[in-house]
Amino acid sequence: MGDASLLRPGEAVLLVDLRRGKRHLVTLRAGQAFHSDRGFIPHEAMIGLPEGVVAVTTKGARYLALRPTLAEYVLEMPRGAQIIYPKDLATIALFADVGPGQLVVEAGLGSGALTLVLLRLVGPTGRVVSYETREEFARRAQRNIEARVGPGAPLTVRAQDIYLGIEEREVDRLVLDLPEPWRLVESAARALRPGGVFCAYVPTIPQSQRIHEALQTHAAFALVETFETLLRPWNIAGPSVRPAHRMVAHTGFLTLARRVQPDAGGSPGIVPSAAPGEDAEPTEDPGPEVA
Ligand code: SAH
Repeated sequence: MGDASLLRPGEAVLLVDLRRGKRHLVTLRAGQAFHSDRGFIPHEAMIGLPEGVVAVTTKGARYLALRPTLAEYVLEMPRGAQIIYPKDLATIALFADVGPGQLVVEAGLGSGALTLVLLRLVGPTGRVVSYETREEFARRAQRNIEARVGPGAPLTVRAQDIYLGIEEREVDRLVLDLPEPWRLVESAARALRPGGVFCAYVPTIPQSQRIHEALQTHAAFALVETFETLLRPWNIAGPSVRPAHRMVAHTGFLTLARRVQPDAGGSPGIVPSAAPGEDAEPTEDPGPEVA
């Protein structure tokens, strides 16, 4: 890639304090400097170098300079609303099956973390439409998105209350991160194309139960499932190989469903699939009760 791979002015760089692990997102600009409590690093000391270099402050503190991955970027970018965490973003990507060329509708835009993931997945031939009622959140999210992917992303922001209706039709995927997704089941059924995926992210189980039951009793939805994703970091340092003492133990629950032909849906629920290698049918010895 030649010089294009070297760090350039205008680029966002993640500086990781090699002693304390603290991370800083910095936009490189000639003439500016990164200041820490242990001296500073002129940006010129990083511009023109390959990522992965160690930059040293005037007082000898060492910082690793890397272009942030998308997961690192969403964690460090300025927030208005609480973001969806990378473990849940990754889960949404595959379970809601977001891919190239799709029309994806989401709400709300929030800080734009989920939007950035959706934009990456739909690619230049797809489109993301994002509803957001709060203007200041929408502005900040758009700044975050432009700083990451530049201008001209295939994104339409609607400064509208999505509970009043979804304007789009033949939508491939609908991803909701707002408090009362059950209010949208009816308009989701009209907006999603047959086979489309409905996905809602909510922080509590009463909300999950309500959206799950609303989808399960609607004739146009089937294969409703609700789950959470736990990510437990491990400490691996010599003889100390064990789970880390701290983890993000709770973020939210996902509820997914498929848009089907009327009457194919509204089922009382499906039998959870068997574990790999197990029979779906109960056998004589069903083993330990898991349900
Ligand atoms: N998924 C986002 C965070 C969304 S936070 C991210 O990863 O960054 C929830 C957002 O939904 C808030 O910004 C809130 O203003 C917006 N919101 C809540 N109710 C809404 C509604 N009825 N219509 C549109 N946006 C709504």
